[in-house]
Amino acid sequence: MTGKSPSPMKMRAVPGARLAHLPQVQRLDPAVRRDIEVVSAVLPFKVNNYVLDELIDWDRAPDDPIYRLTFPDRDMLPEPAYQEVAELIDRKAPRAELRSAVNRARLQLNPHPGEQLQANVPEDETGSLVGLQHKYRETVLVFPGQGQTCHAYCGYCFRWAQFIGVAELKQAVSGPEQALQYLAAHPEVSDVLFTGGDPMIMSTDRLRSYLSPLLEPRFAHIRNIRIGTKALSYWPYRFTTDADATDLLRLLEEATAAGRHVAVMAHFSHVRELETDACRQAIRRIRDTGAVIRAQAPLVRHVNDDPAVWAQMWRTMTRLGVAPYYMFVERDTGASQYFELPLDRAVSIYRDAISSVSGLERTARGPVMSASPGKVAVDGIARIAGQDVFCCRFLQARDPNWVGRPFFAKHDEHAVWFDDLKPAFDEPWFWQTEPFGQDR
Ligand SMILES: *Cc1c(COP(=O)(O)O)cnc(C)c1O
Ligand code: SF4
Repeated sequence: MTGKSPSPMKMRAVPGARLAHLPQVQRLDPAVRRDIEVVSAVLPFKVNNYVLDELIDWDRAPDDPIYRLTFPDRDMLPEPAYQEVAELIDRKAPRAELRSAVNRARLQLNPHPGEQLQANVPEDETGSLVGLQHKYRETVLVFPGQGQTCHAYCGYCFRWAQFIGVAELKQAVSGPEQALQYLAAHPEVSDVLFTGGDPMIMSTDRLRSYLSPLLEPRFAHIRNIRIGTKALSYWPYRFTTDADATDLLRLLEEATAAGRHVAVMAHFSHVRELETDACRQAIRRIRDTGAVIRAQAPLVRHVNDDPAVWAQMWRTMTRLGVAPYYMFVERDTGASQYFELPLDRAVSIYRDAISSVSGLERTARGPVMSASPGKVAVDGIARIAGQDVFCCRFLQARDPNWVGRPFFAKHDEHAVWFDDLKPAFDEPWFWQTEPFGQDR
């Protein structure tokens, strides 16, 4: 690998319960500190020294995008839930009373969007393979049990329930065996996506136990190995000075040398995350292995609801050799009311951003919703037969025959998610009237 190794960075993680005591936070308005205390009793939060020292601009907090991304805000909870929990904390209510109010508040926040725990879980002769998801023919998702946390948490996380144990059933495999068995039996699968949480939180040895077997000839059908991660944003030292960083890069190199396409599916929410020396060095080191970095993130209020931010992000990524991949619509869970944007606005932000960059920088598709029938892009708003409609299209679908088929939804300026959409022209959605090709 390139260059001499600088001295290692030591991680100091700060959990939600300690946020209000941070010296940087002590300097903020007392009302902000109280909100932090109340909201972090309900939703999971975690930052670390890299996020605090190198990403957040404390002169601008709380109005700083990375602060908004990682710190609690009062408006993340419905007002009655906020009031109830705040009152219990103020009068130092018994723990059990606080716990039950907190649980009630959590249940109001749609902890399992899209029935994540049941939907798309494949089966074999031994029963449900919990910890795998197989929704689209060519791609299987693997949730390694040791990778179900992150170096810091995003306020909009749609897997938040897993981080606080609301999930009665954690969606994870305890080791690689079941996943490998399933993949060996499914030659139609070309892509494996390790996801979480953040699989890069695992030791290199652990990651190797999942990845190396896939390089054997019996897995020749697995052309693409993807690893979803926010480590480039929340802990780039994972790829530079951590004790097993060089070993991790060697693992990626082995996978590309074995003829696999290795894609680090990076999550970047704001251009700021791409600007530190640590992140740039990490990107260079990953690229040197032959792996490709592709980037995706949801479009969210308070963090990146500005076309200039996306345009700058896509320009910077392209220059650094990171390919923009998806702009997602934020999911209807957790603090979604704080982060959500009308689809109308999402469409216009995407269009303004994409039209202001070069063709090479226009590789991100969006805005796209990961909905139950498939990944739905909203391509724009048009007027057809005297009616305003959202022009939509499946980028991915349960039935491959649906991919690329345009369909139209009634324009609705308040719609924020797929479930808010109604078919235009009062016909049922086309996929509800056709026989299902590839049921799973
Ligand atoms: C997004 C997604 C994929 C991958 O889709 P691509 O368009 O190939 O990136 C696979 N499975 C699920 C469940 C997804 O949500
Ligand atoms: S990186 Fe992903 S899984 Fe981790 S907190 Fe953020 S959104 Fe959730």
